[in-house]
Amino acid sequence: MAQAESITNFLAALDQHQAHLALGSPTSIGTILIDYLQKKWCPKNSCKACHLCIEIAQKKHHALYWAQPENSYTLDMIDELLAQTAFSLADTALSFIVIDQADRLSAACANRMLKIVEEPPEGYRFIFIAQRIDAVLPTIRSRCIITHLETEKTVITHPVVTALLSHQVPSADQFLKLLETHELKEQESNDLIDYLLGHWLNIEKNEHAAPESQKHTARRIAILKKALAHPPMPGSSKIFWKNLYLQMLRINHP
Ligand SMILES: [Zn+2]
Repeated sequence: MAQAESITNFLAALDQHQAHLALGSPTSIGTILIDYLQKKWCPKNSCKACHLCIEIAQKKHHALYWAQPENSYTLDMIDELLAQTAFSLADTALSFIVIDQADRLSAACANRMLKIVEEPPEGYRFIFIAQRIDAVLPTIRSRCIITHLETEKTVITHPVVTALLSHQVPSADQFLKLLETHELKEQESNDLIDYLLGHWLNIEKNEHAAPESQKHTARRIAILKKALAHPPMPGSSKIFWKNLYLQMLRINHP
């Protein structure tokens, strides 16, 4: 869970500024945003049961536009998102545009949004979500209030991640059992791959590692980048993780 203080700062900044970059697990940040909007819009202060609370939870509220790419963002998706800002809002209303997995914005997609993000029409809030700051294009970063919502701790203790990072890599049977017990949803899978990638990118920065282990690290990074570019489709996350495990295993035992 993100730290209470960083959540408070993030939510306070949402009221004041137009463009935000929230860093951390997209799943946790999504939950924080949904809670916040339910408190804001539900007449019963976030009852979680009324039609407004449900619309928000399903990301279908009329003042909430939640963009989530299947793989990468396309220019069509950006145009659809920008079309939302064509409506002028009542004086007191706020409308939220969430760009989930902002690390999947190409330079062309980001460029198309820059002008609006810089000077959005009155009442609009842009919220970019990404796991790591270095994965977000500088043109987007420079226009946003950046908040780090610390979530690493929850991610690293996920048994599937612990298994893949352990020196004693589990056997295929053990790993399959793990996948059975800790079923991973697609979005959660993306968070975990992104976390693993961040872990190995950090290790790559250590120049004192032996050439052999540098080679292994580079191969792990290549595998994870490929996995991020082709994330699991709905219902296929178990096969996805099994393949990832087998590829990682081959690095340790060629
Ligand atoms: Zn409610």
